[in-house]
Amino acid sequence: MSVTYNIGDIVQTRKKHPCGSDLWTVIRTGADFKIKCNNCGRIVMLDREKFLKRVKKLVQSEKQL
Ligand SMILES: [Zn+2]
Repeated sequence: MSVTYNIGDIVQTRKKHPCGSDLWTVIRTGADFKIKCNNCGRIVMLDREKFLKRVKKLVQSEKQL
């Protein structure tokens, strides 16, 4: 089972951003993912594999089931 990520989801990463936050908002999905730091607003682009390795958990899903 794999988690599906959607734009607007809040994710927690294994490593903290240098600014001290580990919460990010997903702003692009697909072959490449873009995430935006919830604290400093920095945007990072990662390929899908790296994104999945970096994310520890899905904190809040945009699509509530
Ligand atoms: Zn940051």
